[in-house]
Amino acid sequence: MRTRTLLIPLALALPALLCGQTPSKPSASAPKGPAHTMPAKTQSPAAVHRSALVIDTHADTPQRFVDEHFDLADPLQGGNLNLESIQKGNLGAEFFSIWVEPTLYKGQYAHRTLELIDSVKQQVARHPDRIEFVTSAAGIEQAHRDRKFAALMGIEGGHSIEDSIPLLRQYYGLGVRYMTLTWANSNDWADSSGDIDDKSVPHTKEGLTEFGKDVVYEMNRLGMMVDISHVSDRTFFRALNVSRAPVIASHSGARALCDSPRNMTDAMLRAVARYGGPNSKGGVVQVNFFSGFLSQAYRDELKIQQPLAEKAIQEMKDKAKAQGKEVAYAEIEKIQRQYADRIPRPPLSVLIDHIDHIAKVAGVDHVGLGSDFDGVSGQTPEGMDSAADLPKITEALMARGYSAEDCRKILGGNLLRVFREVEQVAKELQAADRPRITEKQPFDKWQK
Ligand SMILES: [Zn+2]
Repeated sequence: MRTRTLLIPLALALPALLCGQTPSKPSASAPKGPAHTMPAKTQSPAAVHRSALVIDTHADTPQRFVDEHFDLADPLQGGNLNLESIQKGNLGAEFFSIWVEPTLYKGQYAHRTLELIDSVKQQVARHPDRIEFVTSAAGIEQAHRDRKFAALMGIEGGHSIEDSIPLLRQYYGLGVRYMTLTWANSNDWADSSGDIDDKSVPHTKEGLTEFGKDVVYEMNRLGMMVDISHVSDRTFFRALNVSRAPVIASHSGARALCDSPRNMTDAMLRAVARYGGPNSKGGVVQVNFFSGFLSQAYRDELKIQQPLAEKAIQEMKDKAKAQGKEVAYAEIEKIQRQYADRIPRPPLSVLIDHIDHIAKVAGVDHVGLGSDFDGVSGQTPEGMDSAADLPKITEALMARGYSAEDCRKILGGNLLRVFREVEQVAKELQAADRPRITEKQPFDKWQK
């Protein structure tokens, strides 16, 4: 089920992928790198990459852990992330995505959420010498000093909390440190970019319901980063207005370069950089590596291949149904990959273009990496096959004039800064002791 970006569930994923149109390429004569970057380079890109604390905020590997019994010590086997590639790419920390497919697991969101959380902890338990389970910004730095890979978790899709703030608190207690308010499906309290144009899906009036605002507040109070990847534009702006802490986009790109509703307009990029509370230094946008969000040409081709893949999958499902069988997701993914492989991969420069664009529009302090590894059916740009290829990003950024310091910010420093600020806001809110819960929850009833 990790191939959700393409076709699963079709009804949810399709609108998100297919409503783009206007390609907009950065001009070849545009100035390279941020204006304040010093041109002098004293360190090699390889040395700069090695010196960085590299943090990626989105990988869907937990579904491999649970469904395929994949272990991080295994060979990649078609995936993007394992211990070997982590070491080669000097990846210091990964936020493993806890994503529950909303149709398949209807009625058991919490059950599936807990199994995925457990799968991350099992990996840590199996490799204590190489992986450290981490829940704080300081923990990421400590693991780095210990020469260990830091494993963190973020929930992808607010439906995991089943409209319960007590569940949200329990997930925090288990170590979850960000949550995307929605996945491609709108929930009872926030709207998704994936189904916002679907009239059959109920949506909120203002992007967040009163309960949705409470969810954001409680995330702020707990110290869980508010993640606006996947939400509708209206929900994005509402969440930004409500949040007392800076927000992150754990895996999104720039809409000016690839017209997907999953990507962010320049106004949204600037807003992430500016909002976050009175003394905030602003949030961060972590760039997704999915070719369908990076390259307009790839995306246009995807629109042609998608219905064909959809048809082939339906035929396979019908055939299996006639025989009284269910189709395994591995089979579905095989077909998805077959059709995706017909589309030429875009060059790595498309990924760098998005980083560069966000650095120019929002500022170099507001961009980072959110690969979506193991979540995009291998549909990444040429040369970006696994975590082992991360040093190529540093090399390409330096070739465009980014300084060593700017590279280290993009590779992880910016995310660390935002994470720390979110933790600080939580401390302040907890000290203020002003819970703002308008929806009555079971927990509140017990208190009376
Ligand atoms: Zn996603």
